[in-house]
Amino acid sequence: MKSILLIGLGRFGKHIAIELNKLNHQVMAVDIDEEKVEAALPFVTGAQIGDSTNEEFLYDLGVRNFDVCIVAIGTDFQSSLETAYLLKEQGAQKVVARASRDVQEKFLLRNGADEVVYPEKDMAKWTAIRYGSDNILDYIEMEGDYAIFEMTPPEDWEGERIDREYMQKKYDLNLMAIKHNGEMMPPANYDGPLEKDDILMIFGKYEELRRCF
Ligand code: ATP
Repeated sequence: MKSILLIGLGRFGKHIAIELNKLNHQVMAVDIDEEKVEAALPFVTGAQIGDSTNEEFLYDLGVRNFDVCIVAIGTDFQSSLETAYLLKEQGAQKVVARASRDVQEKFLLRNGADEVVYPEKDMAKWTAIRYGSDNILDYIEMEGDYAIFEMTPPEDWEGERIDREYMQKKYDLNLMAIKHNGEMMPPANYDGPLEKDDILMIFGKYEELRRCF
């Protein structure tokens, strides 16, 4: 369980609060707008109404005690930038800030943010990969172009046995798990023919996955 300071409870911030609550993290939520704070109350452990660009207000929150500080302010970039800067200045352990443009990402990283989330860009990439293929159901991005893909077998693979060694040697793709008849298992536990509803978990690069399938 982590303790998280979440600043900005617009649509994005509120969704973060909901998801953190599901994962049982401790969340202190902050917004300048009283209504936004009230709407988030069911999902957070504590809440404060206030301006995160106000140094004293931030200081009273004790920012260095949180494992992560998330700045989810979007449109008001000036506030977002000032908040990220002040958080770092006051000793925040990890500052994650939200960008909506490439240039904002650069500014935030140079002014206090340790990491930046860029929801529109991240979701655009996910949507392009997910819907640019008939078989990819989901993917998790890793370092250096690598990702874990959750996918159904292409039509012409149905009824075939998967050749893991060939996939690995030729495309550097690694089958990590297979879900067959609703049961997830390591690939070594199933070497029968692939069926339409099987799900494959594959680690590798997107370009290689496209070449292979
Ligand atoms: P979203 O897309 O998440 O709905 P938005 O872009 O419509 O956000 P923003 O201006 O980014 O709206 O504000 C997000 C939230 O951050 C709002 O609820 C707003 O009240 C809050 N906020 C903005 N500036 C500050 C600040 N200085 N201190 C605290 N909260 C702030």
